[in-house]
Amino acid sequence: MRRKIVAGNWKMNGTLDDAIKLTSEIAGMYKDEINSDVQVVLSPPFPFLNSVSKLTNNTAIKVAAQNCAAQASGAFTGEVSASMITSCGAGYVILGHSERRTYFSDTDEVLLLKVRQALLNGLQVIFCIGETKAERESNSHFDCVEKQILNVLSQLTPDEFAKCIVAYEPVWAIGTGLTASPAQVQEMHHFIREVLKKQFGEQASETSILYGGSCNENNAKELFALPDVDGGLIGGASLKSRSFISIIKSF
Ligand code: PEP
Repeated sequence: MRRKIVAGNWKMNGTLDDAIKLTSEIAGMYKDEINSDVQVVLSPPFPFLNSVSKLTNNTAIKVAAQNCAAQASGAFTGEVSASMITSCGAGYVILGHSERRTYFSDTDEVLLLKVRQALLNGLQVIFCIGETKAERESNSHFDCVEKQILNVLSQLTPDEFAKCIVAYEPVWAIGTGLTASPAQVQEMHHFIREVLKKQFGEQASETSILYGGSCNENNAKELFALPDVDGGLIGGASLKSRSFISIIKSF
């Protein structure tokens, strides 16, 4: 079902105490102020997953990891498997974030393995796609995004794809303070849905497509009102409880 989703990506920030404080603040404000059908997801660093999951256990808030291993288990020092993530109480995983693609060699081939591991272990996938500044400037942004979809999401079965959420995150907008314009966002989200429809037909109408890239409490309302935008993946602004709650309330 096409759901409204606001997911906070905490990236590599804070300590366990910070994570507990932020989660408690968000859970408290959520209980007092949020009365909507928006699915809220918090994505802390791996070591804090279990604590954040326990703190949100009796709430409607869900928890995501920011990555998972491409392998199931074994001699892969430093990696974290999808089954470990599930066992910590998380229900989602962010895969394909541009920081993972750029700094950690998460190619489309690796990402397909990671997506399959995540799905096999019952996780829902928030799959990130998006073009660089150079790709937008050379007018190849549609080709870039289409390739990212075809190489990974289009390889899934309809049942697998049903567990996926797409996050369109233009790389030039992530953490830069530059937000894509509402016209650019709607144009790309519509394009993404059309590409998905070629593979999955009307099932793609049910897919949630989130926008990410310097989304904050000042621009969320306009972005979330766009017909093909079903919510946001929020980086910097998700680290401040008041800002994050304001963004959720923008629907
Ligand atoms: C992100 O990293 O997913 C993101 C959207 O970051 P920011 O909101 O800080 O641009």
